[in-house]
Amino acid sequence: MINYQGILNSISADCSLSKDRGKVATYIPELAKTDSSKFGIHLVDSNKNNFQAGDSETVFSIQSISKVLSLAQAMGLIGETLWTRLDVEPSGDPFNHLSLLELENGIPRNPLINAGAIVIADILVSNLKNPKSDFLQFVRNLAGDDDIDFNREVAASEKRTGFRNYAAANLLKSYGNLKNDVETVLDFYFHQCAIEMNCSQLTKAFYLFMNRGKCQKDKTYLTLRQVKRINALMLTCGFYDEAGEFAFEVGLPGKSGVGGGIVALLPEKFCVATWSPGLNTKGNSKLGMEALEQLTTATAQSIF
Ligand code: GLU
Repeated sequence: MINYQGILNSISADCSLSKDRGKVATYIPELAKTDSSKFGIHLVDSNKNNFQAGDSETVFSIQSISKVLSLAQAMGLIGETLWTRLDVEPSGDPFNHLSLLELENGIPRNPLINAGAIVIADILVSNLKNPKSDFLQFVRNLAGDDDIDFNREVAASEKRTGFRNYAAANLLKSYGNLKNDVETVLDFYFHQCAIEMNCSQLTKAFYLFMNRGKCQKDKTYLTLRQVKRINALMLTCGFYDEAGEFAFEVGLPGKSGVGGGIVALLPEKFCVATWSPGLNTKGNSKLGMEALEQLTTATAQSIF
């Protein structure tokens, strides 16, 4: 039996002593208000045992972590046809990079960079009756928690300053890879990114990716093939232009967000979420990455 609680306590103690915590994202002004001294970690194992340490019950902006959940909902709705509008290759570029999109004629490299997630947002806007509330309900159902909500100030803040996302959406539109109008799709995208969750809720929402497509309440949302694909995308594309480094140091599929959250999983073993708002130069949570490296080293468990 692995002593997860002991390992999380020791990781949390180490993180509380860390002097270099990275820098909180400021390009979305609302996020700049986040307290950089926070650190939380929560792990749920395949027997639904929960372990946590630090600020694991404090909610934060999940930002790009939401891209995995929107992809899961879109795959459930339209299946394989999705891949006519998106590729599945790592970009090796920052999340908001645009030049590849133009070079590759409006087909985003993958669904976890902004341009790709905006195409997924477009698919959800086309296929859901009440896109924002239906997506929110999907996330609540996955996590089994109706308290999960948008932070509307964060969404409004990003709407005012999201110039690169407007550029990406307009480029997509110019290539015919956006069916709805730019404002509607970005309003949806900014809201999905502005969902708030804590580490414990995140591990519940991502449980199905560890559990062959079944959520904690045993309802099946994804086929095995879909789970395999989403986990492969998280491993190869989940950490901006640091996906290689994350695989190298941590060795798990996962996804980060500029709110400082990271969620990662070992299929059929555990799902873990960390939160520390300070980011490294690539936009990933600095302490979160260090914590997960410690976790896979201490437990000797990773996909490799
Ligand atoms: N809403 C953010 C953006 O589009 C998400 C970025 C992220 O978390 O990587 O810039």
